[in-house]
Amino acid sequence: MNIKRNILLNPGPATTTDTVKAAQLVPDICPREQEFGRLMRDLGTDLLRVVRADPVDWATVLFCGSGTICMDACVSSLVPADKKLLIVNNGAYSARAAAMARAYSVPHIDLSFPIDGLPDLAEVERTLKENPDIAAVYTTHQETGTGILNPVREIGALAHAHGAVMIADTISTYAMIPFAVDEMNIDVCMSSAQKGIQGMTGLSFVIARKSVLTAAKAYPVRSYYTNLVMQYEGFEETGEMRFTPPVQTVYAARRALMEYFAEGAAKKWARHTRTINAIHEGLAQLGLKEAIPREIQSGLVVAVEYPADFDFPRVHDYCYERGYTIYPGKMQTSSTFRLCALGAIDEADIKGFFRVFEEALRA
Ligand SMILES: *Cc1c(COP(=O)(O)O)cnc(C)c1O
Repeated sequence: MNIKRNILLNPGPATTTDTVKAAQLVPDICPREQEFGRLMRDLGTDLLRVVRADPVDWATVLFCGSGTICMDACVSSLVPADKKLLIVNNGAYSARAAAMARAYSVPHIDLSFPIDGLPDLAEVERTLKENPDIAAVYTTHQETGTGILNPVREIGALAHAHGAVMIADTISTYAMIPFAVDEMNIDVCMSSAQKGIQGMTGLSFVIARKSVLTAAKAYPVRSYYTNLVMQYEGFEETGEMRFTPPVQTVYAARRALMEYFAEGAAKKWARHTRTINAIHEGLAQLGLKEAIPREIQSGLVVAVEYPADFDFPRVHDYCYERGYTIYPGKMQTSSTFRLCALGAIDEADIKGFFRVFEEALRA
């Protein structure tokens, strides 16, 4: 294959290997064939291994859609009729979950915190105490807009102490930051094939405790297409996704996951760490300021404050024409752009980027 290699520094879709790109070139197949069902079932089991979820107690529910479809499925499916969802919100992605709760009229509390810091755990605890009807707590592991890593383990412990289910949007940390669902006090998490596993867009998945899925059978169905229980049971009964799956993306995801296990979780995280360190170093050399203190960053995304007279579109275009993609920020309070360390990239790619970026700033 001779495909141009672009370095994507946006927060997903990520740069993929040629072998993952090539894995999409397969004979046409009807996804109702048993062979394809087995492929999806095995993929689901392998996706559990990434977060050390025991297949006896946990299930993967596959969806055809971008990562947001998993958020939609969880918010619309996991809250009983007479109970509430608590959203611990310190950024754009938890705010999106709150917007979904409003759209589906899911009773909820949108517990908002400033987007440039961590949520206040004492306030989370007080809210849980004062509202015994909270059935589930939702937060975002990494707020990808700022690169802040949230204390999911601590929030999950509080949720469990108050009898609530812990739902974490781990879309931008899964298969990058190594974690085990049990140790993190997670009951439900999610991701999307174009992020940590370095696959293609169009396949997303929720990883849930089977006991949570069983309990949710009695909850209102607020969305037909994205209902988590219907999607789960549909696959269990037929070995097929309820509606047409993204066939070629599934093959690419299988290949990507093979490459993930071949690289190894610890080695992959070390590579992302090398990559982000090269980003920190490059920024420091140019005297550019990071918007979020290093101690609360995820190690995957850096939000950078605009230098004086910065023209984002012109710098973007200059870099883009040379194979590097930078991404606008998601903070309303200040002008930032983002540099991310996900995907099949390494330190050397970042060094290459900074040569071009410096030229762009001069030009
Ligand atoms: C990427 C991402 C999503 C999903 O975004 P899509 O554009 O729907 O794929 C959700 N949450 C977080 C934290 C993300 O980083």
